[in-house]
Amino acid sequence: MENNVVIAAQGLVKTYNDQNAVDGIEFHVCRGEVLGIIGPNGAGKTTTLKMISGLIPPTRGKTLINGQAVSIDNTSIKKVIGYLPEDSPLYENMKTRDYLRFFADIHDIKRDEADRRIDTLLKQLNLEESNKRLGTFSKGMKRKVAIARSLVNDPQILIYDEPASGLDPQTAHYIIGFIRTMKDRGKTIIFSGHNLAQVENICDRVLIMKGGNVAAYGTIPELKEQYGTITYSITYESGGATQILNIMDMDEMNRAVREIVDDGGSITDVSVEESDLEEIFLRLVDVED
Ligand code: ATP
Repeated sequence: MENNVVIAAQGLVKTYNDQNAVDGIEFHVCRGEVLGIIGPNGAGKTTTLKMISGLIPPTRGKTLINGQAVSIDNTSIKKVIGYLPEDSPLYENMKTRDYLRFFADIHDIKRDEADRRIDTLLKQLNLEESNKRLGTFSKGMKRKVAIARSLVNDPQILIYDEPASGLDPQTAHYIIGFIRTMKDRGKTIIFSGHNLAQVENICDRVLIMKGGNVAAYGTIPELKEQYGTITYSITYESGGATQILNIMDMDEMNRAVREIVDDGGSITDVSVEESDLEEIFLRLVDVED
């Protein structure tokens, strides 16, 4: 395992009513990396994120963060984590600044410093200071306030449960872009989501969960190498007609090209199509199961 591991989940199990919601999973995330956790509804993503954040205890196994075991009472570890729950109800009667100041107070951040951080976060998240109460905010604005809240103590690690779910495409895009900015600033990030193009776009590693187990885990190139396919499409002219030949093996493709040319045909295009994360996901997580 790499030596700059920040988060290591070791044999995590969570049992509810004699059923394993999470069934002995292992993964790690290195400093400055983004790990995406994907899986069908009920696969165990939220349960995993809560265990590694120290919000619920695992039935078995443990999580190490910076080498220390996470537990519900280990407040020093919890301080380095910014957790964004799947549903983040806000205090509806508060205004943004008061709400964020409230959480800064919980983290013992002095008022001047808190206000500086809040100003920066509001600017970064494109959230204008407003006199409106949080209860009147749009869903997207509420999500941004919840994200600002998770960052008010400037944590090293961000653990976000479906940060962009249920938002309009523009706001979702903005939030994913914001997560990328946080990565560029050196944060280590784990997030779950159902938009696989977004996950493919910003994640270094991906954990695919199914029925509480790991269906696949690795960097995107590793997953493509192990579970993906490559299709070569040869377009050629022969006997006055345009033909297309799809081949999934490089040697066979080279052979086919030679044969076409030997038979008097002419190649007009060769394109390569690689499986994307969505295709790999659907292959591994057969929803009919
Ligand atoms: P989704 O994509 O729908 O958010 P998920 O992958 O996050 O799903 P979890 O919420 O972790 O899945 O749930 C995994 C399994 O554990 C589900 O079968 C769920 O019903 C069960 N579960 C989760 N929390 C509890 C609980 N507190 N008590 C009993 N069962 C639970």
